[in-house]
Amino acid sequence: MPKDIYATLAVKRRINAAGTLTRLGGALMDEEVVSAMAAAARASVDIGELQAAAGRTIARITTAQAGIVTTGAAAALTLAAAASMTRWDIARMAALPHAENFPNEILLPRTQRTGYAHALRASGARLVDIGHNDRGTGAGVRGLEAWEIEAAITPRTAAFAFSVTPQNANELTTVVAACRPRGIPVIVDAAAQLPPKSNLKKFLQMGADLVAFSGGKAIGGPQASGILAGRRDLVGAALVQQLDMDVSPDTWAPPDLIDLQAMKGIPHHGLGRGFKAGKEEIVGLLVALERYAAADDEASNAALERRLARIAQDLGDGMVKKIVSARETGRVPQLHLMVENPLALSARLQAREPPVHLSERFAAQGILIVDPQALRPEDDAALVAALLKAV
Ligand SMILES: *Cc1c(COP(=O)(O)O)cnc(C)c1O
Repeated sequence: MPKDIYATLAVKRRINAAGTLTRLGGALMDEEVVSAMAAAARASVDIGELQAAAGRTIARITTAQAGIVTTGAAAALTLAAAASMTRWDIARMAALPHAENFPNEILLPRTQRTGYAHALRASGARLVDIGHNDRGTGAGVRGLEAWEIEAAITPRTAAFAFSVTPQNANELTTVVAACRPRGIPVIVDAAAQLPPKSNLKKFLQMGADLVAFSGGKAIGGPQASGILAGRRDLVGAALVQQLDMDVSPDTWAPPDLIDLQAMKGIPHHGLGRGFKAGKEEIVGLLVALERYAAADDEASNAALERRLARIAQDLGDGMVKKIVSARETGRVPQLHLMVENPLALSARLQAREPPVHLSERFAAQGILIVDPQALRPEDDAALVAALLKAV
């Protein structure tokens, strides 16, 4: 194998102070995760059996009844939507993404429409926006209310989608209280809601039926991995729509999670066949998840905050800046730089050699963010030097 694969391919290495962004390759994996993936690559295993083992680990760590490894949180959302519509009905599985002939509507609060809603729609589901955005627009004080949810539920409702943040997490209680008695599964997009690691359990304990996490963000697993955790029947229906189903009915031995009694036959390749999780991703995610669950969030946030303080100090007095603690962000600490023209500065940084990336999330408010999640400590000094030259 060549020493520096990226140099061989003429692909630039980048200084990443923008966070675990998918377009920059997500998290950087620990050596233990990398070597587990390499070992996994050298043997044949039954993927259903491996997913069942993954489910045991995910269940233990998240408190979910069941779990599977997906190819990312977006894939988990598509599979969650599909499972909510089909349950164990194999004719519905075969029909997807055409879902007009059965309940196919997913309710989504107007305040929570993200670009990732497309992942829900990719299943064939139709999204129904509900509620008001008074807080988001600054027009008023009221958030999502129980009566709005109850009024929106019809016989065509297949699920409720909730894109959770530290700010809206309390509204999940209202949603669960309205949906659970009516048998409507609540799907939570918690892709980037780690740390704190307590969130691995929190949304499930609040009553979510299915929760999606990214494997390639804070968990530090393979970029193309994620978790779908939750109710056993729904996770099983998701798994059978993700697995390779070119099987002989006479010899197929699926894991217990797949309820053969509940299905009228054996489904063909499902909607999720293109989202196949490989043995390397599954093993890598599991090793990373064990490491993440055992680590100390508070200590690692404190270490990140010390690095940010050092970076802030080295940037000197010429720049207006502020450290925002993990307590304030609800996740990891950040260094906010208040600058004249954030996007122009970001473009200059990206044009450097090596390119430097800061988070543009608050650019509209005149802020560029140093997000330390995927910033290698050995890049801190180069980041400071690049910023001092580019401002
Ligand atoms: C990152 C993200 C996703 C997608 O996660 P992947 O693991 O990259 O598929 C979905 N929803 C939200 C809110 C995210 O931040």
